[in-house]
Amino acid sequence: MTNSIEVKDLTLNFGAISVLKNMNLDVAEGEFVVLLGPSGCGKSTLLNCLAGLLEITDGQIFIKGKNVTWAEPNERGIGMVFQSYALYPQMTVRGNLSFGLKNAKVPRAEIEAKVARAAEILQIGPLLDRKPAALSGGQRQRVAIGRALVRDVDVFLFDEPLSNLDAKLRSELRVEIKRLHAQLKNTMVYVTHDQIEALTLADRIAVMRGGIIQQLAAPQEIYNRPANLFVAGFIGSPS
Ligand code: ADP
Ligand code: MG
Repeated sequence: MTNSIEVKDLTLNFGAISVLKNMNLDVAEGEFVVLLGPSGCGKSTLLNCLAGLLEITDGQIFIKGKNVTWAEPNERGIGMVFQSYALYPQMTVRGNLSFGLKNAKVPRAEIEAKVARAAEILQIGPLLDRKPAALSGGQRQRVAIGRALVRDVDVFLFDEPLSNLDAKLRSELRVEIKRLHAQLKNTMVYVTHDQIEALTLADRIAVMRGGIIQQLAAPQEIYNRPANLFVAGFIGSPS
């Protein structure tokens, strides 16, 4: 079986500082992998390398068996959802959802169908004519997810999508993301520093520290048999 994502001996240096150190990671097709670790451990950097937003220092990245190490972001078949919603403020929700497709010269009827489907899945139909400023944080994040959804990508990358939301919305949207994954069955790599989020969402968790994966295993395995004291302490003490 082809892995959806394969990271081989990836090293990323910022100047003299090695932020990712000879990292290896395989993500199976349809798998939900959470990158969990404290602030500064390299989670976002790894995600940005997968997305093609950072040039890696050494190693290789494969997506669906294709070597994309030097491919442009839009050639990688991935959709990325950031912590800050990154919506276009001057456009309506509909405009935000269709912008990328218009640029890619997708026929209008097809754009409308894709936007309608995303709106239905994410329950944002009534918001399509609003601008981002008139949305709540949770609604904006749904739109941000919708922008990845309309592109029919196989791989979703999430960078702390819930960390700007209050506790109630966070747990609601967490359930939503889990449902979305069950429905779409796409591959997801999800960055968080929140242990609860990781334990509830992940098929497997990669616990990171200092640019190194300390343990990569199912939540139960990590919880019951942490590989070292760092993993035990980090999983055992929710922030
Ligand atoms: P995380 O997402 O886990 O909080 P990051 O991937 O953002 O961590 O950062 C990992 C390390 O890389 C941090 O020490 C950070 O200061 C450093 N870093 C991130 N981006 C840059 C950059 N553009 N230039 C130099 N150092 C950076
Ligand atoms: Mg980060």
